[in-house]
Amino acid sequence: MTCQIIGSKKLVEVLKQQAKQKVEEINKKLGIKPSLTILMAGDNPASVSYVTKKIELARECGMNSEIIYLDENNPQEYDKITTELNNNKNINGFMLQLPCPIELKNGFNINTEKDVDCLTETTYKKMLAEDKTSFAPCTPLGILRYLEFLGIEISGTNFAMIGKSRLVGKPLFELLLNKGGTVTLCHSKTKDLAKSISTADVVISAVGKAGLLNKDNIQEGQILIDVGINKVDGKLCGDVAKNVEEKASIISPVPGGIGPLTVMSLITNTIDVCYMQNGLERPEWSVK
Ligand code: NAD
Repeated sequence: MTCQIIGSKKLVEVLKQQAKQKVEEINKKLGIKPSLTILMAGDNPASVSYVTKKIELARECGMNSEIIYLDENNPQEYDKITTELNNNKNINGFMLQLPCPIELKNGFNINTEKDVDCLTETTYKKMLAEDKTSFAPCTPLGILRYLEFLGIEISGTNFAMIGKSRLVGKPLFELLLNKGGTVTLCHSKTKDLAKSISTADVVISAVGKAGLLNKDNIQEGQILIDVGINKVDGKLCGDVAKNVEEKASIISPVPGGIGPLTVMSLITNTIDVCYMQNGLERPEWSVK
C-alpha cells in the first residue's frame, strides 16, 4: 500500500483567495472590512503562536484584527471588555484564546452572532440544530473541509473519532453524524482502542499523545486525520506514529495539516458573520 501524506497548504490557499475576494466585495458594497478581535491572557507559548497566526492571516486577507491582552489579576475586566465588544457594531467576531488562566464567573459572555469560535452553549446548540446562521467550531470545520478536499463523501462512511473534547471531538462527532456518517466516539475510558477503530474508513485522532495511532492498532488502507499537537525531543508531531505509513492510505501531517485549516476557518467564520450582520446572504466557500 502506498501511503499519501496530504497537507493542507493548497486547500488553505484556495480558501484564502476566496476570503480576500469576499473582503474586497464587502468593502466595495458597504465600505467596511470584517473585523476579528482575540482576547488572550497569560503567556503560554503555544497560545501566543496560535494568536499571532490568526491575526496575521486575518490581516493578509484584508480584514481588521487586533489582540486584547487581559490582566490575569483583574478578572472583572473580562466581563467589561466582552460587554463592550458585544455592543460595538464595528466588531464582527471575537473569541477568547484557550486555555485561559482567568476564572470566568459569568461564562464566556459572547453574543452568539459574534461567537466565531463557537465557545458558548447557545452557539453550540444552534450548530446541533443545523440553524442556517450557526457556526461550527474552527477545528471541526477545518476537518470537514479537509474531508471534502480529499473527495470523501461523509454519508455512508465509517468514522472513528478519538477524543471527546467540547471544541474538537464532540462537535465533530455530531457534525459527521448529522451529515450521514457512521461514527464511533472513543476516549480515555475506551477499553480496546484497536478494536473500536477497526471498522473505520477514516480515523480522526484529537488526543495529544504522540504515537497513540501506530501500525499495531490501525488497519490496512485506513485514512488517518491527525489533529493532535505534541512536542517530542523539541520537534512538533501529532498523535500518529511514523510507522503507520506501512499500512495507512492517507495521512494528514503535523505540522501542515489540520492546524492551518483551523486558523483559516476562524477567518471564514468571521467573514460569514460580517456578511450576515450586514443583511447580506451568507457566502459560499469552495474547496476547489
Ligand atoms: P482535551 O485534552 O480536551 O481532550 C483530549 C481527549 O482525548 C479527551 O476526550 C480524552 O478522553 C481523550 N483521550 C485521552 N487519552 C486517551 C487515550 N489513551 N485513548 C483515547 N482517547 C484518549 O484536548 P483537545 O482540546 O481536544 O485537544 C486534543 C489534541 O488536539 C491536543 O494535542 C491539542 O493540542 C490538539 N488540537 C489541535 C488543534 C489543531 O488545530 N490542529 C486544535 C485543537 C486541539
